[in-house]
Amino acid sequence: VAMSQKNYNNKIIEEKKFLNNLLEELVQIDTKKLELAYFPSLGLIPIATEILKDTNINVGAQNISPILNGATTGEYSIETLKDYGGNFVEIGHAERRNVFFESSNIIHQKILLTFEEGLKPLVCIGESEYLPAFVRKNIFKNDLMELLKDVSEKYLTELTIAYEPIWAIGKIKAADSQYIFESHVVIREILTELYGIDIANSVRIIYGGSVNIETTKEIIVNENVDGVFVGRYGHDPKKLAEIINIVS
Ligand code: 13P
Repeated sequence: VAMSQKNYNNKIIEEKKFLNNLLEELVQIDTKKLELAYFPSLGLIPIATEILKDTNINVGAQNISPILNGATTGEYSIETLKDYGGNFVEIGHAERRNVFFESSNIIHQKILLTFEEGLKPLVCIGESEYLPAFVRKNIFKNDLMELLKDVSEKYLTELTIAYEPIWAIGKIKAADSQYIFESHVVIREILTELYGIDIANSVRIIYGGSVNIETTKEIIVNENVDGVFVGRYGHDPKKLAEIINIVS
């Protein structure tokens, strides 16, 4: 099946323009203390890694196959990602779980594989409705115990948890900041109970779900919020750079 050359080229031109504009905006911002990662759609990964290769912006895949080699038609292989120079993998996004019925077991396999291959997982967790903090804690604890089972503690300093309340994804506004703080506190508590304070403090817990400039200003002041995971409101390079500036 042929895609028209024109549409293909346009897509690449758009991607290059977005990234080059972003890099231009970032020249004025001191990002040295930040860990930045960009997750383009899978087909654009080689374009992104090429443009970002001499920068401090990591490139990740939004999904990977749970197994290293073998027949998994339609999946994206972690080896391909490595060949292109990608080093992050997003795992367990709400849409992977809800639209594609990805089980905790599959997500767990992807996390193990990502660590074993020396890449960094961005593991998404989040409740499906607005709930009191103690109920959220039970949900997160069960989820994290299943997802991080058998993960060697030496890898955990490379873990990022994206806390994304499912009900706040793709909405006009993010969850309210108090609610976000509570979730980050209970996730940190769970990690402390499971692994001790040092490992718990080394894991990055970032918030995602309708993040914009205002949300970032409101939540980044909290010591348990280590960063943000930006979707739609980062499609404009100026706005994304402003969000990065706030976090820095
Ligand atoms: P939005 O910021 O567009 O809600 O997307 C969040 C998200 O799911 C990022 O993966």
